[in-house]
Amino acid sequence: MVKAVVGANWGDEGKGKITDMLAKDADIIVRFQGGANAGHTIVNNYGKFALHTLPSGVFYDHTTSIIGNGVALNIPILFEEIKSITDKGVPTPKILVSDRAQIVMPYHILFDQYEEERLGKASFGSTKSGIAPFYSDKYAKIGYQVSELFDDELLKEKVKRTCETKNVLLEHLYHKPLLDPDELLETLHSYRDMVSPYVCDVSAYLWEALKENKTILLEGQLGTLKDPDHGIYPMVTSSSTLASYGAIGAGLPAKSIEQVITVCKAYSSAVGAGAFVSEIFGDEADELRRRGGDGGEFGATTGRPRRMGWFDCVASKYGCRLQGTTDVAFTVLDVLGYLDEIPVCVGYEIDGEVTTDFPVTSKLEKAKPVLKTLPGWKCDIRGIKKYEDLPENCRNYIEFCEKEIGFPITMVSNGPSRDDIIYR
Ligand code: GDP
Repeated sequence: MVKAVVGANWGDEGKGKITDMLAKDADIIVRFQGGANAGHTIVNNYGKFALHTLPSGVFYDHTTSIIGNGVALNIPILFEEIKSITDKGVPTPKILVSDRAQIVMPYHILFDQYEEERLGKASFGSTKSGIAPFYSDKYAKIGYQVSELFDDELLKEKVKRTCETKNVLLEHLYHKPLLDPDELLETLHSYRDMVSPYVCDVSAYLWEALKENKTILLEGQLGTLKDPDHGIYPMVTSSSTLASYGAIGAGLPAKSIEQVITVCKAYSSAVGAGAFVSEIFGDEADELRRRGGDGGEFGATTGRPRRMGWFDCVASKYGCRLQGTTDVAFTVLDVLGYLDEIPVCVGYEIDGEVTTDFPVTSKLEKAKPVLKTLPGWKCDIRGIKKYEDLPENCRNYIEFCEKEIGFPITMVSNGPSRDDIIYR
């Protein structure tokens, strides 16, 4: 049985918490895309952790955590992260790394920085983790698969060629120090030594696991609106954030994914530039940011303040549809308990016409939110375990959003911990 946990929105919906929670009954958790550019924050009995590369199942000793072929693998960060959790008393997790995963090279990180600098005001607001240069090289077929680390002849030759082409750009476009092939080769040797105990033919491993009826969780990073095809291009990430891509990025058959749990936050937040129709500003935004998430809405990787907005039914309906949602997990609802009234974005007005269909970016830039205001519930809902025990206005809010997005909200998250969950 394969389940995917993915985001409906701009990311930071609380996928880490939901994955960590579902991992209790799973055997294998796979990261299938993205890299160390975004993070999941997880609160459990060992403490509070920000994971960037490791799947959110690493805190259980019965699970195997997998870095799938679709991931942008930063090997030193993976190892720092393993150390950071074992240092806090978490048992050494069982980790497998796909031999087909590609490696984020030190120069990908440099090129990411240099290009953002060069673009200045027109920059993408990248986290400068090397993700865009990494995926560019992957699809230009000049990336490095983990398996290539183990072929020294090939590696030497390839490093030489890489330095030749990259150095042209470094010298003439960016005016920065050049790459040294000997140094790069040495770095790759150190990566090989770090990763070698974990390397595995992941798709073969997962195929066997399927035959043994194991439960496999696919853990997505970011959300639908950051997908390079279906999101707010070009202000998107560089790998697909959709559950369908989970099959490719893990090496599983498409039809094996039986359940898609789409995580949808009860209000909106976004990082980086790009259209954000239900965005709010000033004191109203500051207060929601300060109260949001678990200790404020600030990036898990960069610490930068997130942009804030009201729940966007148009974006979430689209976000859930593209994911192929079977279940919606509606998260961070407890945060809204301070509001007398809660605005919700129910439509976009574009050139004088109102639509509930999420448009292409050029139209999105012109969209103005159509808001409907619902009454707040004015109390703390943390600790509540049964749906019926939620205040009536809170249930009305959930049911209103559910009707607008058109997919069943089967889980409501009312706090950051594993146990803060209400099943419907
Ligand atoms: P992810 O990348 O989708 O996993 O999301 P992040 O970890 O970046 O952001 C979610 C934040 O909200 C984290 O700080 C979580 O601990 C926190 N969180 C998750 N679910 C809830 C919830 O139901 N209530 C509250 N208050 N915080 C939550």
